[in-house]
Amino acid sequence: MTVRLTRSLMSLAALATVWANGAAQTTSPLPERAIRRDIPLTNAIRRAFGAGTRDSTGRPGRNYWQLRTDYTISARLDAATSRISGRESVLIHNTSPDSLTSILLRLDPNIFLGTVPRAAPWVPAENTDGMVITRMTVNGEAVNLSAPPGGLGPDPTRPTELRALGLNTTVARIALPTPIARRSSATLEIDWSFKLPGGPGAGHRMTMRWGDTVYQPTQWFPRVAVYDDLRGWDTEVYLGPSEFYNNFGRFDVKIDVPAGWIVSGTGVLQNPEEVLTPAARERLSRVLESDVVRTIVGPDEVGPGKATAAGDRLVWHLVADTVNDFAWATAKQYVWQATRATIPGKGPVPIHMVFLPERARFYANAGPIARHALEFYSRLWMPYEFPQLTLQDGPSAGMEYPMVINSNQGAADHETGHQWWPMMVSNNETWYGWMDEGFNQYMNILSAADTRQQPPNLDGPGQSYGRISGTEAEPPMMWNANYAGPMYGFQTYSKTPLMLSMLGGIVGDSAVQRAHAEWARAWAFKHPSPWDYLFFMSNALKHDLGWFWYYWLFTTESVDGSIQDVTTAGSQTSVVVRQDGQMPSPVVLKVQFAPTGPALRPMRNATVVDGVSAVVTYPVDVWFAGSRTFTAVLDFGGRAIERITLDPYCRFPDRDPGDNAWPREAAVPAQAQTGGCRG
Ligand SMILES: [Zn+2]
Repeated sequence: MTVRLTRSLMSLAALATVWANGAAQTTSPLPERAIRRDIPLTNAIRRAFGAGTRDSTGRPGRNYWQLRTDYTISARLDAATSRISGRESVLIHNTSPDSLTSILLRLDPNIFLGTVPRAAPWVPAENTDGMVITRMTVNGEAVNLSAPPGGLGPDPTRPTELRALGLNTTVARIALPTPIARRSSATLEIDWSFKLPGGPGAGHRMTMRWGDTVYQPTQWFPRVAVYDDLRGWDTEVYLGPSEFYNNFGRFDVKIDVPAGWIVSGTGVLQNPEEVLTPAARERLSRVLESDVVRTIVGPDEVGPGKATAAGDRLVWHLVADTVNDFAWATAKQYVWQATRATIPGKGPVPIHMVFLPERARFYANAGPIARHALEFYSRLWMPYEFPQLTLQDGPSAGMEYPMVINSNQGAADHETGHQWWPMMVSNNETWYGWMDEGFNQYMNILSAADTRQQPPNLDGPGQSYGRISGTEAEPPMMWNANYAGPMYGFQTYSKTPLMLSMLGGIVGDSAVQRAHAEWARAWAFKHPSPWDYLFFMSNALKHDLGWFWYYWLFTTESVDGSIQDVTTAGSQTSVVVRQDGQMPSPVVLKVQFAPTGPALRPMRNATVVDGVSAVVTYPVDVWFAGSRTFTAVLDFGGRAIERITLDPYCRFPDRDPGDNAWPREAAVPAQAQTGGCRG
């Protein structure tokens, strides 16, 4: 400490001398632009590197671990009061090297209490009594539920009483006088109930019912929070927009609803002979035979004995082996249709759709869209691992859960994309939404192009970021998305495709996609951090991309390139390129030649495109010494040059692409320039 302080004082003193002498004007020791070339490490990731749970290969470290939580849930829906009552047992496998002195619970339904923080402008449709917990035990011992209300409080190292804190918030803590020892397990039992929120209006988030006839329970039971090697217990509150970070485990769920109501959900139905009609079972048995969309329960098959087996109430039993959540839906009258998707290397899986008869038009193309998404993303990243996918109709239209999307055809491609993240690759979406929504937005571009049977065009998005960079409200992508503010949508959804457009401009789009697929396979059913992604991609792409990740993820800077000057002497043309932004980029110049003249002489770093034009590339390294200008010397043997364009594929963030051409055209609007790239 002392040594470092002394050194920095000395250099300050030296600098002061230079300034005092007025010598800085001509012999400045400071570069014009200092470029950071490494990936910033937080204390959490440093600790993980030290413990060997993660490392700079970007793959799970030799000591990687994650908790597993296995749920057994029995739930009963009372349609008269729109209330679910549940009893659950969670087997917590403490695979961590720590003994756990508390258990953190996620109680998302408490966001409907009206007394907890919510992210603006998020407004639930209805205030309720939240998650009501009436009994809780840990390893059979009763938990005191009457501790004073309020926040979590500190994690006491030696709690004296088994009690729960913060039960009226979205994150509660159970203090454990007897810790859960490392590499042991504990059983948590909870009896609970909560009213499914409905209410008037549309477009509210997490609205779970229409009246008392359609229900979409999501985030509907007390969940054990993630405990990981980066932060220990995940104490993030649930504010609405930023969604999931959940443990993997087995779900064994029994759902008790009125007979005649169809139930869909995560997992595989265990007791079709108890809840379905013989006709429905026979129709289901043929779903995997072809791509035909089959009706399992039609609009004229309503009520006990017709839509379902006969009786007063029926208990639907669903099991999912390794998933990080469980969602379901039920309605007094659902139409049930099914088709299939054929997963490469795996074979056919069913796609189910349940919707209200009067809303059938929103599902007319849903089956083929979901099939294309499952098959395309399986080829792009890795095969879809789950045994089925279900599209559920209701007020929630545009939400994702394992094997389940609350979506009609409108969002079917995007929501199906979420089966890769966070359902198979379980990123921490609450903090790093770009690893879910952003990756998803990028792949949706590829899927849409594939649907049109066209190659995807990623020219344009990278450059367009230059017009946003500098907006005061923009949080860096590494800023916790729970607190991203008014530009949450840009930070979490829109910026990632721009970043990956630029990455493709450096290494090629197909290389980006191959590396990303390898990363997905390396982290399937695990919890990668951003650093795992960054290091993995840099290694897989065999590029030192520290600078790239730093500027895109940790800053809101752009490149702002321009051509300053062009001079020709003999066969050589010197192009002065300037970058006004803090982010560097490779220099890519498109050179258009006169149609006739001396033969084109090859240049080592140039590719001749079509006989009258060539693309010349200089690596990003040309900026690392700190100058803001770089002079590219072109020598193609004396053929006259008619036009030079900087960043011809529009991949590098640029505030004003109008100054990227030489000779400079009179006031070409930036929009028109980029429009040229996006074709
Ligand atoms: Zn999404």
